[in-house]
Amino acid sequence: MSLTTAELAERYGTPLYVYDLDRVTAARDDLLATLPEGFDLYYALKANPHPEVVRAVREGAEEVCRPEVSSLGELDAALAAGHPAGNCLYTGPGKTDTEIDRAIGLGVREFSAESPSDLRHIGNVASRHGVVARCILRLNIASAGAATGIRMMGRPSQFGIDGDTLAETLPQLLSVPGTTVIGAHFFTMSNAGDEESLLGEYEHVIETAAGLGSDLGLPLELLDIGGGFAAPYAVPGNRTPYPKLRAGLADLLDLHLPQWRAGQPRIACESGRYLAAECGSLVSRVVNVKEGSGGPFVVLDGGINVLGGLSGIGRLLPAAVQLDPGLRPAGRGTLVGPLCTPGDSLGRNVQLPALAPGDLVTIPNVGAYGLTASLVHFLSRPAPAEVTLRGGEVVSATRLEPRRTPVGDGR
Ligand SMILES: *Cc1c(COP(=O)(O)O)cnc(C)c1O
Repeated sequence: MSLTTAELAERYGTPLYVYDLDRVTAARDDLLATLPEGFDLYYALKANPHPEVVRAVREGAEEVCRPEVSSLGELDAALAAGHPAGNCLYTGPGKTDTEIDRAIGLGVREFSAESPSDLRHIGNVASRHGVVARCILRLNIASAGAATGIRMMGRPSQFGIDGDTLAETLPQLLSVPGTTVIGAHFFTMSNAGDEESLLGEYEHVIETAAGLGSDLGLPLELLDIGGGFAAPYAVPGNRTPYPKLRAGLADLLDLHLPQWRAGQPRIACESGRYLAAECGSLVSRVVNVKEGSGGPFVVLDGGINVLGGLSGIGRLLPAAVQLDPGLRPAGRGTLVGPLCTPGDSLGRNVQLPALAPGDLVTIPNVGAYGLTASLVHFLSRPAPAEVTLRGGEVVSATRLEPRRTPVGDGR
């Protein structure tokens, strides 16, 4: 029998993350249906590396939904969730020799190379293992000029090889021992709420990639055109639908890369938030209500140590979380966490229901960039429990334990 939120909170304590795995699978299937048939999809574990979430992404779609990892911890999570190492794409601007070594030792063969030196590092390690790493070159090109989302490309950054220099550098990049360049990787925008901008960005990426293939001889076996699929964060709502994307992308590919339907190149997209956001909610308990002249301060047992720690850099948390609808708003107040810093605010002057100590509140749509994007060690509180559900039944209930362990000889 499925448990209510109150029963889950009673059994596992609060703050508590609840992940409904059926919603991960549903989001995955929706996204696959939004993309042209035959597309590969990478799940960026950055959004949520919980092994059951990572497993849910794979279940029933092993061949098309693969892990995109950028640390050994994420790689371990992908393997623990049953993904073959050979399906993993290893990305990131700061891959160390040690992690490349371990990743290759575990069977990873596909890497996104963020710079010429990154490519050489990958090649050196692969050569030591006597294998060849299949690499896509992450390219940084001027963007199409879309209006929404978080811009990831176009300015100088640690991400990607400067597209303008490729004419000079490509011959060297194609002959790095231990590697074979199999294609290109673009990631131009995140959280694109507007379908036209997203399509415009893809048009630019596909046109650019096709041009680099024909003009410079960039190999195109795999073309990862990025993501950008939007989902709400810590407010009620649904994933953004993209009704025109499937046909629009197919048209663009027919025009610029007419062999794509035969798998030349194989086309991939990637997503974190679209796949994971909706599955998660955060259940907290009201610890105290402090009446103030500007409305009450409602103190929860979980704040930026469990959610939205990255709000400090203005990237992830909206100005104010909104609680699950259902409770009638009673007035305005401020939702804060338990930490001893004024930064521990989840929403200033937001609509709140009447709340008293002991009440439970639920923040919806925090399955992506929730726990692992928070300041979980800050003020040394225990991490929240994370419970996963399938068909309403509990699949797992765990806590990520921060613990201090000796390194080297411990001194
Ligand atoms: C962060 C990231 C993603 C996931 O972004 P979402 O907005 O969560 O879909 C995908 N690819 C790369 C390269 C990233 O850095």
